[in-house]
Amino acid sequence: MNATRKKIKKLEVMVADVIEETPDTTTLILFTGNDLLDYEPGHFLTIDPHQFVALERWTAFLEDKKGKKESPRAYSLSSSPDEKYLAITVKEEMYYPGKSKYPPLLSPILAKRTHKGSKMIVTGFTGPYTLPKNGPLPSEILHICAGSGIVPNYSILKYALKIYPDIKHTLVYSNQSWKNTIFGKQLIDLQMQFPDQLTVDFLFTREEPDRFNLPYQTGRITSERIERKLAKMDHPQIYLCGPGISKYEKISARKEGVAPAPRFLESVLFSLEGLGIEKKQITHESYG
Ligand SMILES: Cc1cc2nc3c(=O)[nH]c(=O)nc-3n(C[C@H](O)[C@H](O)[C@H](O)COP(=O)(O)OP(=O)(O)OC[C@H]3O[C@@H](n4cnc5c(N)ncnc54)[C@H](O)[C@@H]3O)c2cc1C
Repeated sequence: MNATRKKIKKLEVMVADVIEETPDTTTLILFTGNDLLDYEPGHFLTIDPHQFVALERWTAFLEDKKGKKESPRAYSLSSSPDEKYLAITVKEEMYYPGKSKYPPLLSPILAKRTHKGSKMIVTGFTGPYTLPKNGPLPSEILHICAGSGIVPNYSILKYALKIYPDIKHTLVYSNQSWKNTIFGKQLIDLQMQFPDQLTVDFLFTREEPDRFNLPYQTGRITSERIERKLAKMDHPQIYLCGPGISKYEKISARKEGVAPAPRFLESVLFSLEGLGIEKKQITHESYG
């Protein structure tokens, strides 16, 4: 058994607080008792839907329909290891009639139906989306995130800004609008707290009314935008997280004999490749 596997264990946690981040996204603050929280920023935990009595029939129905067991879902930790409590931040997946094959199972109850004092079992902690363990730390990091892809980067940012003051961070963060921007206010606060270490570029695909008085740009994350950022940086390590092609999209495209349509993650990877960025300079995680 290697060191990573030994660290993974089941924990019974109690929801100590429920924070609505955006209309569809909620942070659950989890109290773990005296358990040692041995995790790194960027790690995730998993939650098995079978433990929820309210989901019993729903899970059985979906298993019948899909012909396979529903697997545990992964959630990155939005807390930082130097914080007292564990936290996850969950975006409610939607069902689009005529478009979605099945309704989502776990995220709706985590994001909308979990109350203070509820208990659940989580399994953690693991994942490769962490700061380098061997070898030197980068002097600069370019974080590129979209939507709930901010979650592990938020944990990395909170931790690294405090613990590694020599690392400079630039975050390019894409959302539809301020209303959907998870941790928007917290990121502005971090930027004010660490002005020499952190720069945040909010990118909205929809125009915002002026009343928010926000430093933001409109548009998507394009090769040109990334190139302009990279030109100001010294060989940064890139941490990229956001929606990617799901395994279901891959299977269905394969059946149809076509290539699956790229999503945020694949588009940015393609841009980075076009800009001549080496693979080893990129750490990425897909929320497909
Ligand atoms: C490493 C990692 C970290 C993650 N961290 C976070 C996080 O911090 N926050 C967060 O909100 N999410 C995160 N996710 C996503 C999360 O794990 C779940 O995938 C998400 O919450 C949806 O789960 P669900 O049970 O609600 O939906 P699911 O039941 O898994 O359904 C999701 C979608 O897949 C479709 N689908 C399901 N089964 C099939 C099928 N058999 N065929 C075709 N289509 C199907 C559904 O129609 C739906 O659109 C992470 C994922 C990974 C891999």
